[in-house]
Amino acid sequence: MDLSFTNLSSNTHAEQRVKVLIIGSGPAGLAAALYAARAELNPVVLTGMELGGQVSLTYAVENYPGFPDGVGGNQLVELFQKQAERFGARVEFDTATEVDFSQRPFRVTTYNGVYLADSLIISTGATFIHLNVPGEAKLTGRGVSYCATCDGWFFKDKDVVVVGGGDSALEEGIFLTRYAKSVTIIHRRDSLRAGVILQKRAMENPKIKFMWNTIVTQVVGEEAVRAVQLKNVQTGEEQEFPTDGVFIFIGHHPNTQMFQGHLELDEQGYLVTDMLMHTSLEGVFAAGEVADPHFRQVITSAGMGAAAAMQAIHYLEEHSAEEEEAQLPTA
Ligand SMILES: Cc1cc2nc3c(=O)[nH]c(=O)nc-3n(C[C@H](O)[C@H](O)[C@H](O)COP(=O)(O)OP(=O)(O)OC[C@H]3O[C@@H](n4cnc5c(N)ncnc54)[C@H](O)[C@@H]3O)c2cc1C
Repeated sequence: MDLSFTNLSSNTHAEQRVKVLIIGSGPAGLAAALYAARAELNPVVLTGMELGGQVSLTYAVENYPGFPDGVGGNQLVELFQKQAERFGARVEFDTATEVDFSQRPFRVTTYNGVYLADSLIISTGATFIHLNVPGEAKLTGRGVSYCATCDGWFFKDKDVVVVGGGDSALEEGIFLTRYAKSVTIIHRRDSLRAGVILQKRAMENPKIKFMWNTIVTQVVGEEAVRAVQLKNVQTGEEQEFPTDGVFIFIGHHPNTQMFQGHLELDEQGYLVTDMLMHTSLEGVFAAGEVADPHFRQVITSAGMGAAAAMQAIHYLEEHSAEEEEAQLPTA
């Protein structure tokens, strides 16, 4: 199968009116597009810089139902896109830069123009903080991972390292001991930031070892991870440490900068929604990791996308009924 995305447009335009504008082309955005398109609302999806979202970076997805032999991350989101386009969704290679919610329709400025949207679904996802060391990007999905739930299974009876010292690093490290033969937690300081109970659990786990005051300076391998190059920040000593996998948990932030001051965010910066995907502003919905610090999976993000679109459909129906009523002559 051709893994490149097709039918992408990136037309420069003046103001364009749309019923549903979806910001983000990951699983949440593309699932939302499918539902909105099947309701004949001709949604427009803005891709942002990461076409298909985070999962497009990964080599194999084995926990998305319907693919008993697994599926390439890129291939999966390409199928999402094709399915949405079949019903009339339009995927635009464009990035939103500014929102104005003081007027209706909502005004969204992008690199290529301006959209006036009757309803908006925000699915801008989240970004993992990377180590930014040589080998990391090349070996992502080939031993470098940011998700133990997604990739732990691939490391049955293998040796892995976890980079980080916060709650996520420890939680994911403990989770990885279900599969891995050994988990070495590499932390740049001599004490952990994680909560006391987690620390105790990790320290008592016979499969977990710690390497303190140490940073990863390179991920080593050609087709797959073979080792990490380490440096002790106190002594300057360097070593190549053999490993089969590198799990990086040094931070994760939702892509919500553009919405600060416009919508309610929680203390970690995630968009606040209710169970029905409503944000703090009527007509603006959010789905996927931009509003989800907990599950962070393709299936949960896609599910939230579908739910957000169903709510947007409902919102538009209610509003068009109100408008029709307002236009009726009074007796
Ligand atoms: C390496 C890796 C492997 C993974 N493997 C698995 C796995 O095996 N199974 C699994 O279930 N999950 C996996 N995950 C997690 C999964 O990828 C995410 O949970 C999922 O992609 C979240 O979907 P999302 O649509 O909410 O956001 P994202 O995938 O983060 O997509 C966000 C989208 O928003 C766009 N965007 C951002 N800002 C703007 C803007 N200003 N304007 C327009 N667009 C914008 C981006 O370009 C992107 O298209 C993995 C994650 C990573 C990083």
